[in-house]
Formats: sequence, C-alpha cells, structure tokens
Amino acid sequence: MSLSGSYDASNIFAKILRGEAPCVKVWEDADTVVFMDIFPQTQGHCLVVPRDVEARNLLDLPADRLNGLFGRVQKTARAVVSALNPDGVIITQFNGAPAGQTVFHLHVHVIPRYENLPLQPHHQGKMADMDALSSQAARIRSAMEA
Ligand code: 5GP
Repeated sequence: MSLSGSYDASNIFAKILRGEAPCVKVWEDADTVVFMDIFPQTQGHCLVVPRDVEARNLLDLPADRLNGLFGRVQKTARAVVSALNPDGVIITQFNGAPAGQTVFHLHVHVIPRYENLPLQPHHQGKMADMDALSSQAARIRSAMEA
C-alpha cells in the first residue's frame, strides 16, 4: 500500500480498537490503546495505537494528535524500562509498505533491547506464548499506573 490512498477500516488494528478482534491489552485511555505485539521481536514488544482517528500512518495524523500520541509512547517506554529492566529501548514506526509497514492503522513500536537476547528482525517474530504475553502486559500495566 502506498503512502497515499484511503483508510481501510477492516484492518486488524481497527478491529482490535472496535473490540471485534482480541488483543493482550496493556493500558488505554480516551485517545490511545497500548497492546502487546502478537509476533514480538523480543520480550515486552508493545504497540501504541491512537483511537478515533482514520490515520494509516504518521503523515495522516492530525497535528493536534501528535503530542498526545508521543506522550503515550514515552509513558509506555518508561513503563517498559521500569517493568522489564532492558538495556535499551527502540521506538520505531513505518509508513507505507515499501518502508516495512504491514498494518495500515498508525502505530508506534516500543521494543525493549536486552544485551544478551537476540532481536528478531521486523516481521520475523514468532507467535508469542499467550501466558508470557499476559504476564509481561501485567507488569508493564502496573508500571504505567504507578
Ligand atoms: P508494521 O509492520 O505495520 O509496522 O507492524 C505491524 C505489527 O503488528 C507487527 O509487528 C506484527 O507483528 C503485529 N501484528 C500483526 N497482526 C497482529 C495482531 O493480530 N495482533 C497484534 N497484537 N499484533 C499484530
């Protein structure tokens, strides 16, 4: 999908936001939902997703939503660091299929980086164990609510 075009409300993240598809939710507020990536590149890989906006990518997002979204990205990254104690944290976001985007509702990846744990390449993560994902989500949620 190119950078230009119309928003397709049947994408999987739109379904998750509408409650039509499941997710392992970490945290939410009126503007944003944070849930675990089901094919994580490493332990604790979260996605920060704006709700109530038809934005395929960052270029589509109304400018008045930018501060709110990146405030939640920072809040999530701080919680991931506090909960999981990684050695680093990657914040990444892809715009358009040639850039690596596969789900066309805007989202920001928060990916902890552990020195002694290999990072799976983008799109090459394996389906997560749901108990492990739920446990990580609970720890990150506690840190977000602290
Ligand atoms: P993108 O490539 O668009 O930046 O990232 C999409 C991300 O969504 C990928 O990291 C992929 O693992 C994740 N993903 C794809 N399908 C689902 C799903 O059904 N549920 C969840 N939680 N994550 C998904």
